[in-house]
Amino acid sequence: MSRHALLQQTMGLGPSWQPRGDWFAQHPAMLARAEQMAKPAPAPLAPSPSMPPEPPAIPSAQPMPETAATAPAHPPVSISPIPLQDWNALEQTVAACQNCRLCQTRTRTAFGRGNPKARWLLIGEAPGENEDKQGLPFVGRAGQLLDNMLAASGLDRDRDVYIANVIKCRPPGNRNPAADEIAACHGYLLQQIAHIQPTLILALGRFAAQTLLETERPIGQLRGKVHRYQDIPLIVSYHPAYLLRNQPDKAKAWQDMLLAQRAFRQHA
Ligand code: SF4
Repeated sequence: MSRHALLQQTMGLGPSWQPRGDWFAQHPAMLARAEQMAKPAPAPLAPSPSMPPEPPAIPSAQPMPETAATAPAHPPVSISPIPLQDWNALEQTVAACQNCRLCQTRTRTAFGRGNPKARWLLIGEAPGENEDKQGLPFVGRAGQLLDNMLAASGLDRDRDVYIANVIKCRPPGNRNPAADEIAACHGYLLQQIAHIQPTLILALGRFAAQTLLETERPIGQLRGKVHRYQDIPLIVSYHPAYLLRNQPDKAKAWQDMLLAQRAFRQHA
C-alpha cells in the first residue's frame, strides 16, 4: 500500500474498504488451506510445549507458566464450507457459528477489534472470561498490557492494528483450545487475514504461532526471527496473559516488538 493510501486510510478518507477479489489468486496456498478447512475431516493439530524465561521492560504483574490444560475427549467436528464473505457477513456468521462445541458454553463470540484496514494484524489464542462477556479480544489486564506495549511502539490499538484470536469462543475454564476447535475455527481466521491483507502479522502465544506456522516447535525456538505466513512477514511473541505472570519475559516481548517494527519498516 502506498503512503498516500495509508494516510487516506488512517484518516478515514480512503475509499470504502473492500477485499481485493484476487487476493486468494495471489495466495494459492491460502486458498488451498481455506479449501482444506471446508473439508469434513480436519487434520488434528498436535499438542504443544511451553515457554522460556528472562528480565522486564514494560508494565507488570505476577508469575505462572503458560501451559496446558488438556481439552476433553470429543466427537469429530463437522466443518462447514466457508466461502469468502464480506466483512460484516463474516462477523455475523461467526456470531451465529455452531461449528464446534464451544458454541454451547460461550456468552459471546469475540470476532476481533481494531481497524480492519490496519497494516498490523495481531493474533492471539482464545477469548478469556472478560472477552467472552464483552465479545472483544484482549480486554482486561492482558488487553491493557498489550495496549501499553502497542502505545510504547507508537501504535494506536484502534487505528493501527487489528487484533483477533485463533478461535472466537472461550474454552470453558480458560482451558487450552483443542485441535479440532482450532481447525473448526481456522477458516474464519483465514478470511480475516484475506480481508485485512496485513503488512505484518504478530503471533501472540504458542497457539497462534504453532497454528499459523504449522509447527510444534516451542515458542522459544520461534521467537527472534522473521517467519513468513504466505508472503506476509510473521513475528512470534509471548501472549500478554503469559507475560502478566512471567514478568521477566516482558523484556523478550519488547525485543519481539522491536523486531516486528523493523520487519514492518522493511516491508511497508
Ligand atoms: S470457536 Fe469458532 S468454530 Fe467454534 S463455535 Fe466458536 S466461532 Fe464457531
